[in-house]
Amino acid sequence: MKNSAAMPSSGRCLDLLKAACLSFAIFAGGGTVANAASARDFHAFVESLWPDAKAQGITRKTFDAAFAGVEPDYSIPDLDLPSRPKVDNNGQAEFTKTAADYLSKDYLDKLAVQGRAFLTQHKAALERIEGLTGVDRYTLVAIWGRESAYGTYHASNDAIRMLATLAYTGKRKDKFREELLAALKMLQSGIPRSDMKSSWAGAVGLTQAMPTEYFKYATDGDGDGKIDLWRSVADALAFTARQLEGKGWVRGARWGYEVIAPPKADCSLEGPPDARPIGDWVRMGFTKASGPRFTAAQLKEDAYLMMPAGAYGPAFLAAQNFRVIRLYNTSDLYALFVGHLSDLIRGGGDFATPWKSFAQPKTQTVHGLQVRLKALGYPMDKIDGKIGSNTRKQIGIYQKANGLKIDCWPSDGVLAHASSKAER
Ligand code: CA
Repeated sequence: MKNSAAMPSSGRCLDLLKAACLSFAIFAGGGTVANAASARDFHAFVESLWPDAKAQGITRKTFDAAFAGVEPDYSIPDLDLPSRPKVDNNGQAEFTKTAADYLSKDYLDKLAVQGRAFLTQHKAALERIEGLTGVDRYTLVAIWGRESAYGTYHASNDAIRMLATLAYTGKRKDKFREELLAALKMLQSGIPRSDMKSSWAGAVGLTQAMPTEYFKYATDGDGDGKIDLWRSVADALAFTARQLEGKGWVRGARWGYEVIAPPKADCSLEGPPDARPIGDWVRMGFTKASGPRFTAAQLKEDAYLMMPAGAYGPAFLAAQNFRVIRLYNTSDLYALFVGHLSDLIRGGGDFATPWKSFAQPKTQTVHGLQVRLKALGYPMDKIDGKIGSNTRKQIGIYQKANGLKIDCWPSDGVLAHASSKAER
């Protein structure tokens, strides 16, 4: 693989944060952080799980076997350790992937070719799953490609160790406690202890799903009477399809559409709060970037404008199925990658509008802008240094209100403008 954009998604580790995840792993490898919590405390924590585990039908034998030899892993990200060094906030480590890098054409083209071969190889299973769930085979194959590079990537962490660490000292302890108990239930149901390998965030199986999802959506996709998310591609694909169905997939609909914005529209219209029927977008002057015109049914679909690179790349109308893919893995670029790859596998072409190449803004620039805009009364729900759709939108609204060039993109120029305004 040529670059890290080509790496499969490591479960719920947001792709955009991968650099931060990796830097954490390197950072926290030493012994000092491990002193933050003693082994005795960890074992007391594990024991505190027992009453809930027992109540859920887990035997002491399964419980002891699950935790035998397990120690916390302080090298994983998303832990709440006071002694851990803060993430480098000058933009070196975090958020270094631009949309152009993430949506690497070479890698997408390669995955599309492999995806078409996979489609042929697993035609019968995919048809059956499509019929059962309504989720189209192209999207399923695209997720499969994104998550595991068609099964060539295998997570290698111990899931029980990851989940126990996150439940013990992670930032979302309750969530991971629930996931850990679900993982124990998986073991109780007969899944071999040795199969419980995961990403750092505890996502298991060929399609990298959280253990609680297993009990909601796992399905026997190949009809052999067993569910094997590790060795049966059909079972893994059926599981993914049922998750998407459960999150609100609309049968027969697309994820979204690349569009060309009219001259009078701008990027500040971006984001879910300005969602409206596609017919309204068309009346505002938006047109499809390629292919046939919108059908009558498509004109009724609710969609929001999404411009992941602000004014420096393509614009999209993101429909309900885009939101569903985003629920599967919460990242605009992830969902766009999957949607676009599904189109390429169908035989579609490249984006009509190219991504302009530029350096990713520094985290501190983004963070600084979020702080200033919030101080100026703009609705910034998250001050996190990350360029989400609301950050782009609010920058665009600020630029518009102040007669600046509207590009919805964080820069030192707009930061300086907002800083001087916030000080006044
Ligand atoms: Ca099966």
